[in-house]
Amino acid sequence: MKKASHSKLTQSVHAGSPGDPVHKGMVTPIYPSSAYDYEGVPSFPYPRYFNTPNQKAVAEKIAALENAEDGVIFSSGMAAIMTSLLAIVKKDDHVIFQSDLYGGTQHAIVTELPRFGIHYTFVDASDPSNFEKAIRPETRLIFIETPSNPTLKITDIRSVASIAERHNIVTIIDNTFASPVNQNPIDLGIDIVTHSGTKYIGGHSDICCGAAVASKAFVEKILQKAINTGGSLDAHTCWLVERSLKTIVLRVRQQNQNALTIAQYLQADSRIGKVYYPGLPDHPGHAIAKAQMPGGFGGMLSFEVKTDASQFMRKLKLIQRAVSLGGIESTITSPAETSHAKISAADRAAIGVTDKLLRFSVGIEGAEDLLEDINQALS
Ligand SMILES: *Cc1c(COP(=O)(O)O)cnc(C)c1O
Repeated sequence: MKKASHSKLTQSVHAGSPGDPVHKGMVTPIYPSSAYDYEGVPSFPYPRYFNTPNQKAVAEKIAALENAEDGVIFSSGMAAIMTSLLAIVKKDDHVIFQSDLYGGTQHAIVTELPRFGIHYTFVDASDPSNFEKAIRPETRLIFIETPSNPTLKITDIRSVASIAERHNIVTIIDNTFASPVNQNPIDLGIDIVTHSGTKYIGGHSDICCGAAVASKAFVEKILQKAINTGGSLDAHTCWLVERSLKTIVLRVRQQNQNALTIAQYLQADSRIGKVYYPGLPDHPGHAIAKAQMPGGFGGMLSFEVKTDASQFMRKLKLIQRAVSLGGIESTITSPAETSHAKISAADRAAIGVTDKLLRFSVGIEGAEDLLEDINQALS
């Protein structure tokens, strides 16, 4: 674990950013070169080696925010996840996944891993001992995601990490929902942290990218796999990601505050059914979330409306219907109609994804305006 020397606010502005050595400008110049002079240098930059100045600036900033030694920036969250996974496991190895994962990750596991001869088990993560029970002699990796989508379940990161450590198993966590501002799993014993940077890291609904951060040794393994799979990010987008990261702490803190205010309001409203938010004291994972999310409980919440859910969504004026999440603007989706549409209604109900459930990605607007919009759509 690398100890942070500065606060997250300072890191978000300064970490990794090399500045402008020629003209002394305040921002990192864009270095679009794909060809560099190799004379007399041990290793030269090349975009698919993930080592150009713009790629390194972003990777170092995200690594700093996650208290990790090093990092890699990718062209998508899925590139970060699949490259990290394939860097650790090979044919005949076994992986334990938490059962409620992001839909794209779930899909990639069941469609791709059997083709590589990699075995896996999905377990209910609400009890960490389920991971220990699923361990086989050939288990190499445990993969978790917390808070989960869309019912914001909390996995006890420290417990899972210590089980894995006892059995010499590598751990990966998808930290997208929490963002590096709220939760730093490396501090809790996790080996590799991945992000869909398309969400809070980009934060403006205009970038697709991903990241993996870890110790230098794990990053080296990921890099070797990444050079073969090739999911690199171009200089212009890296530059935009670096710019976005300078405000991530301010954005996420406002989103945390708005989400908590809205969750508390919704819970007290008789027109609303269940509210899922780890910041609410009666959320089953609240105590663990409080311990492992020191920065805040995040900007994602879900709730059930007692009236017609699609009519409610259509009546919203400020809060927009959109998939994806983590942007500065508030967006809402019906998981039953989008991310979980391919699952049968009965199976959906079993995991709490009813037709009345809505997933809310809370933006940075004024909480009072968001509440007013919800109120008018409910009436
Ligand atoms: C969006 C998302 C991903 C995939 O990221 P892409 O950038 O779309 O490839 C992975 N995990 C979580 C939790 C996500 O929300």
